[in-house]
Amino acid sequence: MEVKYTIEDIKTAIDSGMKPVEIASRLGKSKGALSSFMKRHGIQRKKLNLSVDFLEDQIFVQGKSQKEVAAKLDVNITTVNRFIVKYRLKMDVCQKCGDRFHASKNTMKWCSDSCRFWNYVNTREDDECWPWVGKNVTEEGYGRFSFNKGNKPTTMTCPRYAHIDAVGPILDEEDTRHTCDNPICCNPAHLTCGSHGDNMRDCSERGRIVPGRKKGDERYKVTKADMEKMKELYSKGLGYKTIQKLHFSHVHFTTIQRHIKGTVSHKPE
Ligand SMILES: [Zn+2]
Ligand SMILES: [Zn+2]
Repeated sequence: MEVKYTIEDIKTAIDSGMKPVEIASRLGKSKGALSSFMKRHGIQRKKLNLSVDFLEDQIFVQGKSQKEVAAKLDVNITTVNRFIVKYRLKMDVCQKCGDRFHASKNTMKWCSDSCRFWNYVNTREDDECWPWVGKNVTEEGYGRFSFNKGNKPTTMTCPRYAHIDAVGPILDEEDTRHTCDNPICCNPAHLTCGSHGDNMRDCSERGRIVPGRKKGDERYKVTKADMEKMKELYSKGLGYKTIQKLHFSHVHFTTIQRHIKGTVSHKPE
C-alpha cells in the first residue's frame, strides 16, 4: 500500500534510523527517486558518526570487533567494512616485521615485497651465510625473487634484491657478487656490487655500504643498551621495520628481530 509522506515525515523517519531504502519502498518509489527527492528538498541522510580516528580507537585501542562497532553505530557491518577498505585501515599485522598494514587481499601475509623476501631467507648469525630458502632456484644456485616494480612484474636474483633492499639502489649494468662464494647466500654483509673485481671501494664511496656493515664486526653493532631499547620499543607495539627506520638505520631489521627474540648476543660489555 502506498503511504503519503511529507518532507517532515521523511526527515523524522530518517532521524529515527529508518533506512532510505525502507522509506522508498513504503512510498512506492525507487531508492534513486527518493534520494533525488531528498536532495531537492535538502533532506540530509542520517549522519554516520564514522571516522578513521574513531574506528582506529575502537578497534586498536579498545579492541572492539567490526561487528561491535557496527552495532554501536547502529549501522550494517558492511558499512563499517566498506569504510575500512576505502580508507585502507591497517587491520592486519605483517608476519615478518610486525607492523600493521592494510591487506588488499585476505591472503596477504606481509606488508611489503621486502618482508615477503626476507621471510624466505634464513637469517642466521650476522657473520654467517643467510641462505635463500624459497622455491625458485636456478641451476647456478641463485635464488630468484619476483615482485611488481611499479605495475611491471619483475624477477631478479635474490642476492641482487637483498643488496638493493638492505643497502641501496645499484645500476642496471652492475652485478652483485659474493665475498663468501656461496650463490644462495643473501647476507648483505657478504655482498658487494659492481662489474669489476676491485669495485668495493667504488661502492662504498657512493655511500652504498651502510657504515659498520663490514664483514666480521656485523654482530657487534648492537650494544646491550641498544638491545634493551629495541625490546622496549617492540613491547610498545612497534614492528621491527619501524624500529629500524626510527632508531637503528644501520642494523638490518631481521637482526633487530633476532635481538628482540634473544637468539643472538649483543656486543660484549
Ligand atoms: Zn612487514
Ligand atoms: Zn654468505
